[in-house]
Amino acid sequence: MMVAMQQPQLRGELRTHESLARYTTWRVGGEARQLYRPADVEDLSLFLSRLAEEEVIHFIGLGSNLLVRDDGVAGTVILTQGMLDNIEQLDTNRLGIEAGVTSAKVARTAARAGMAGAQFLSGIPGTIGGALAMNAGCFGGEIWSLVESVTVINRYGELVQRNPDEYEVGYRSVKGPGSEQDEWFVATTLKLERGDSEELLGENRQLLEKRAASQPTQLPNAGSVFRNPPGDHAARLIEHCGLKGHCIGKACVSDKHANFIVNSGGATATEIEQLMEHVAQQVMAKFGIALEREVRVIGNPVSGGAL
Ligand SMILES: Cc1cc2nc3c(=O)[nH]c(=O)nc-3n(C[C@H](O)[C@H](O)[C@H](O)COP(=O)(O)OP(=O)(O)OC[C@H]3O[C@@H](n4cnc5c(N)ncnc54)[C@H](O)[C@@H]3O)c2cc1C
Repeated sequence: MMVAMQQPQLRGELRTHESLARYTTWRVGGEARQLYRPADVEDLSLFLSRLAEEEVIHFIGLGSNLLVRDDGVAGTVILTQGMLDNIEQLDTNRLGIEAGVTSAKVARTAARAGMAGAQFLSGIPGTIGGALAMNAGCFGGEIWSLVESVTVINRYGELVQRNPDEYEVGYRSVKGPGSEQDEWFVATTLKLERGDSEELLGENRQLLEKRAASQPTQLPNAGSVFRNPPGDHAARLIEHCGLKGHCIGKACVSDKHANFIVNSGGATATEIEQLMEHVAQQVMAKFGIALEREVRVIGNPVSGGAL
């Protein structure tokens, strides 16, 4: 007798022609042809294994370092925010963390467990997957200085554990054995020091207050737009070009922090990208310094546009 083999079912959420504006902190951008929110790592693996070989895949965490162009992305977006969100204390100084856990939650969990070294993560508004991809950091700390190992998934849905020495890690830059189009982070183990829980929670709070005082947290933005050039600050250069408050459409250089571009209400991705180009041109003209973008840009340039 023939027994029909049951195909495993996907358990995540698939949406088609989904606007990505609601998944990025700039609140701009076009649609993804399809967007998948995996139920867990196993489900993600199954979903990826069923995609066509040539499918273009983008991972989005909290979209806090990302500009999605107005014409959107033709491929598949995997959204980890609110998903892949397990965090587990492995022993007295190690945390096992899935890619969709927010950096703030990692800082909080570590502090509560009396683990020191992750306080800087308290004010970085992204997921740990995004932090690993960017080598996110601030106030002297960087995520990769804490990494013991990472688990990655490739486009066929296969999982591999990797060590930090397989990566070239620099300032806001991470190059691994797989390309950004073929391999993504699903989890990491961070190794921390022991510390006093109350003191660590206090430090987290102080870092957040310091941030609120210097950054335009009221308007949609994506943090620092440009990397700091060696020995200088992008914000200083932009401010000295007289660009604070300069707008293209509804995209404006922040009055509070010159390396931030804010969406003052109804900006388009094209306006933000044009403003980025303008700022870079002005800094080049005045200082001869080529600013490099820290924010990632995805999607097709708007057809017929100037970009
Ligand atoms: C107000 C504000 C303040 C900020 N301050 C800081 C700061 O102090 N320091 C700092 O470093 N950054 C800062 N940022 C930028 C941003 O928060 C960080 O880069 C953050 O780590 C990005 O995480 P995300 O989940 O939002 O990534 P996303 O913006 O979703 O993605 C960023 C990049 O990472 C990739 N990516 C996302 N998830 C994965 C994954 N699982 N595997 C592989 N690739 C992935 C994306 O494809 C994309 O290329 C700030 C942003 C804002 C809005």
